[in-house]
Amino acid sequence: MIQNAYVGLGSNLGDRAGYLLLAVRGMLDAGLDVIRLSSIYETEPVEYEEQPAFLNMVAELRGSTLPSPEQTLARLLRIEYALGRTRDVRMGPRTIDLDLLIFKDQQIETELLTVPHPRLAARRFVLVPLNELVPNLLHPVLGERISELLCHSKDRSEVIRWKAGKSTD
Ligand code: ADP
Ligand code: MG
Repeated sequence: MIQNAYVGLGSNLGDRAGYLLLAVRGMLDAGLDVIRLSSIYETEPVEYEEQPAFLNMVAELRGSTLPSPEQTLARLLRIEYALGRTRDVRMGPRTIDLDLLIFKDQQIETELLTVPHPRLAARRFVLVPLNELVPNLLHPVLGERISELLCHSKDRSEVIRWKAGKSTD
């Protein structure tokens, strides 16, 4: 039984760490009960590679107080919008990206929302921070633990724990 929900946060424009923290505050302000945060990781862009490095993190939200998955996503999209996210290039640079990775044990496939997030298992920038929070969580569709998905992932992209003050922002 998965009780909670997990949100992936990513930023690769401007004050990246600042955007992650503003997004966390945005979730709290929107009534999404953030109970745990992973470390922040600096990660190499995948899929569309000619862009700056990302900072990524995963937040755990308390399941018992969450609205529906659709409502939760709507709140996340509103935060992206408020933080200046535009959608010029698919997979391209963004001030903030918020993905609903896991919502309890639910499996949803509609035009607007797919949960668990379909690319979760293929991305080290999601698996590494998620593994820090819940290594034993069983993926509701794939039936493997996060730690196993991470071991079996073919993604070789770099995901390094980030330290504030090391880079330019
Ligand atoms: P990506 O995060 O894969 O780079 P975008 O953030 O540009 O892509 O795409 C966001 C769109 O994907 C949203 O408008 C939303 O309707 C849809 N979507 C479907 N499933 C999810 C999910 N689990 N989490 C976030 N967005 C989702
Ligand atoms: Mg997204």
